[in-house]
Amino acid sequence: MTTFHSHQPIVIGNWKQNTGRDRAVALAREIVGASVKGVQQAICPPAIWLTSVAEAVFGTSIRVGAQNLSRYPSGAYTGELSAEMIAEACSFTLVGHSERRKLFDETDEIVNAKLHVALGAGLGVVMCVGESAEQRDAGEAVAVVTSQLEKGLAGVNAIADIVVAYEPVWAIGTGRSATSADARTMTTAIAGVISKLLGGIGAPVLYGGSVTSGNAAELFAGEHVAGFLVGGASLEAEEFTAIGRAIAPGD
Ligand code: PEP
Repeated sequence: MTTFHSHQPIVIGNWKQNTGRDRAVALAREIVGASVKGVQQAICPPAIWLTSVAEAVFGTSIRVGAQNLSRYPSGAYTGELSAEMIAEACSFTLVGHSERRKLFDETDEIVNAKLHVALGAGLGVVMCVGESAEQRDAGEAVAVVTSQLEKGLAGVNAIADIVVAYEPVWAIGTGRSATSADARTMTTAIAGVISKLLGGIGAPVLYGGSVTSGNAAELFAGEHVAGFLVGGASLEAEEFTAIGRAIAPGD
């Protein structure tokens, strides 16, 4: 079974390096308590709280994912968590988040290696791509994400367990989201590249970058925007669920 499907909107919260254990469990319970019908909601807590959070949401519709994983299957890699370890605690993982690319020197080749070990362990994958402000200003946005997709998805035969998140670097944590027109243009371009590389027509493409309950509905209006990857706004249950409500299918 794939982690996410394309028939319902997806909203994934990336808690980054935030929350202690009590806060993580409480936040997960609040999100469960206010879960939004018709929306696939997921949360990515810090790895050390994955098990506690997975227990807190057990038996509910809220999915749990990791933010990162080792590129190596097992062995002498001090401090790393393998895909198989992660798969014991949750159902999917992010790879290629721009903070990992920028702050931890993750190349497309590393992103690709992580994607393969994750899929091999039965994890779903949310692969992040996105251009910097300089690349956008130089008119290179589509070329940059195309290259990230080609390299990141190298050796992949089917899109089934993969969701791509378009996250322009200049929009992450800045309060400056892409316009809905930009999000639409880029997610449509990404869907086209995926379909050229792998078939996978209708593969969900998420948008991420300063999404809030105030801009969610407008950003979601794009044909290929299947939902959101949310950072800052996912740390408050009310705001996170309000984003889900803003894009939930009508009754
Ligand atoms: C993110 O880190 O994936 C993200 C989109 O962050 P924010 O929503 O805070 O911009």
